[in-house]
Amino acid sequence: QFPFGRRLPCDIYWHGVSFHDNNIFSGQVNKFPGMTEMVRKITLSRAVRTMQDLFPLEYNFYPRSWILPEELPIFVAEVRMMKDSDPSWKPTFIVKPDGGCQGDGIYLIKDPSDIRLTGSIQSRPAVVQEYICKPLLVDKLKFDIRLYVLLKSLEPLEIYIAKDGLSRFCTEPYQEPTLKNLHQVFMHLTNYSLNIHSGNFIHSDSVNTGSKRTFSSILCRLSSRGADVKKVWSDIISLVIKTIIALTPELKVYYQSDIPAGKPGPTCFQILGFDILLMKNLKPMLLEVNANPSMRIEHEQELSPGVFENVPSPVDEEVKVAVIRDTLRLVDPQKKKR
Ligand code: ADP
Repeated sequence: QFPFGRRLPCDIYWHGVSFHDNNIFSGQVNKFPGMTEMVRKITLSRAVRTMQDLFPLEYNFYPRSWILPEELPIFVAEVRMMKDSDPSWKPTFIVKPDGGCQGDGIYLIKDPSDIRLTGSIQSRPAVVQEYICKPLLVDKLKFDIRLYVLLKSLEPLEIYIAKDGLSRFCTEPYQEPTLKNLHQVFMHLTNYSLNIHSGNFIHSDSVNTGSKRTFSSILCRLSSRGADVKKVWSDIISLVIKTIIALTPELKVYYQSDIPAGKPGPTCFQILGFDILLMKNLKPMLLEVNANPSMRIEHEQELSPGVFENVPSPVDEEVKVAVIRDTLRLVDPQKKKR
């Protein structure tokens, strides 16, 4: 660790937040230039939508989305048109502020005319997208999957996907959205940072119970119910690769501008956090990509009112230690030389 600045060149630079550091001329940095910008909600939506226009069937793993405020009139018009052509369509939409995280500022609406939408978007750009109403439930609860993906190189494109990830559970039994339950975040949003504050959150030392479990424990359960787990995995792999392909052209522009060809500079790699929702029919849908996924292997526990302590979290440890260990093995400079 170099809290006050670095003096010697290193093999591997592990930055906390982003690529930027003008003094690196060799070695490898654990961030790509421009990645944080590229995975922001609006930029990611734009990149995936460009691909959806070109290859609609290949990119049907991302919910229909509109960028606000600029596309509000298109959003209103398209929804009206779709409702007119299919009166039985009763959609719900989720509004997510750009640059937000941990569920911050997210809300559900039933109709584009929702007053909150027109009021808030003036101040804060956002993405509004079709809400997936029929997620796969386990123990009657909605959950999402956090998978760790190593982008080892852009050219040639080299992507590794960790075989295990985390499943993060809601803490109130799921019901399809209605005007009455639309505001119940513990039912609709799977964010750990929100659900931890619900009285129902279960910390567990086991990887297959509680409000945070390993993804492999979910797959095990699905497999015992007869689900085609291999197909789920191959769909997830394809979703990850296609998403990175959608980001690649602009990432290359950032890369060439920060590390021009022919000039001495480092190479880059990056661990990305992919948030994925499995639908009831087991189809994976992309929710978002995180350029700076939390690698914490502890969680806070309230010992007595107002007194907190960090305690180990076995589920996080099982998944994240493996991700960091395998990443370091894959980028090991000694291995490259050999
Ligand atoms: P944040 O960066 O704030 O976590 P996300 O895009 O991950 O924003 O959304 C937060 C949560 O909302 C997700 O973890 C998921 O539970 C839920 N969610 C997001 N988008 C959808 C969607 N289109 N359909 C259903 N649930 C969604």
